[in-house]
Amino acid sequence: RDSMFDPKDYIRTVPDWPKPGVQFRDITTLLSNGPVFRQLIDTFIDRYQPVGLDAVVGIDARGFILGAPLAYQLGLAFVPVRKQGKLPFDTFEEAYELEYGEAILQVHADALDPGQRVLVIDDLVATGGTLMAACKLVQRLGADVHECAAIVDLPALGGSQAVLDAGFGFHALCQYE
Ligand code: 5GP
Repeated sequence: RDSMFDPKDYIRTVPDWPKPGVQFRDITTLLSNGPVFRQLIDTFIDRYQPVGLDAVVGIDARGFILGAPLAYQLGLAFVPVRKQGKLPFDTFEEAYELEYGEAILQVHADALDPGQRVLVIDDLVATGGTLMAACKLVQRLGADVHECAAIVDLPALGGSQAVLDAGFGFHALCQYE
């Protein structure tokens, strides 16, 4: 393991996307480097292996890319939290605020058992709306959020603080001010 690993060395910043004034943090340049992608997943493995989790909850869609290899390596269940209309069975849903209007996340009603300890993972936290909605879905299933994890936190947008204020743990590998 490389203890000096910094995801920021591999994340690409795309100015004015998806609209003027936004600096989009693009993780595809991190994923497209095989040894670096492995280092990224191993960094999460080292943190969560000792915990004794029951499941990894990945958020549609970049959270799937991180959550699936993590669950596989830890031998845990992987549970997708998806955007509205993608899951075929009975679901619980949670609405959250977007800049314009709202969006809905869903999870299968039988995806977790009460009391299970889960990690919720996504690539980046901005306002925290997405992560909070996912955590609420986990709670609706009666499971416990051990922690929320992301590669990137944008602390100026207040999302990670909101997650902490709501009583959930939070851990990110890097920040952009
Ligand atoms: P939030 O709900 O915290 O405001 O926004 C976080 C969600 O939007 C995450 O699912 C994340 O994938 C996506 N997102 C917002 N901005 C960025 C960005 O600059 N880079 C990446 N990779 N994802 C972003």
